[in-house]
Order: sequence, then C-alpha cells, then structure tokens
Amino acid sequence: MTDRIPMAPHDFGDRCDALAYKWGLSLTSGDRTIKRNAAVGGNPNSVHLLQGMARDYVPDNPANAADVMGDARRLGLWSVYHDKGSGKHLHFQAIPPLSS
Ligand SMILES: [Zn+2]
Repeated sequence: MTDRIPMAPHDFGDRCDALAYKWGLSLTSGDRTIKRNAAVGGNPNSVHLLQGMARDYVPDNPANAADVMGDARRLGLWSVYHDKGSGKHLHFQAIPPLSS
C-alpha cells in the first residue's frame, strides 16, 4: 500500500525542478536510450528508459540527502540515495519501484 500515486512526466519534472532549486541538486541523468542505459550499467528495466519518469541528481551537500528524500516523498516522488553507475546520487522517479 502506498500514499503516493504515479504522476505525469510534466508534474514529475516540475517537482524535481523545485527540489533541485531548494536543495542545490545537480542533474546528472534523465531520459536514457537503451544503449546509454546499458553503458552506464542501468537496470535493463530502468525507469530512466520511460520518457520523463526518472532523474538522478548529486546534492551539493550530501548531508542533506535524507532531508531531500523526505521532501521528495511529501511531493509524491519515490527516491533512493545510492552509489551506482556515475557514483553516489539521488534517484527520483514518478512511479513506484518495480517489484522483482
Ligand atoms: Zn536513476
């Protein structure tokens, strides 16, 4: 059960932009082609393959990551702070994680 619902790409983008401005986040990845996704070691089912549904950011201050994620959740986003591909980054997406 979740208190969040999937959102349209433009809503997701607006919320990411607001978080980036508020917290000082630099965009490092967004939409990916299948080729690019494979090159950066992305999951074959990555949400980055769905246009406008996932973005990665590096925070100016890593100590803020947990607070950024709390803010993202309040905005209805799903997020994770992990060290994959391009290094440690915040991943935001507009839909729930795929269960595997
Ligand atoms: Zn990502």
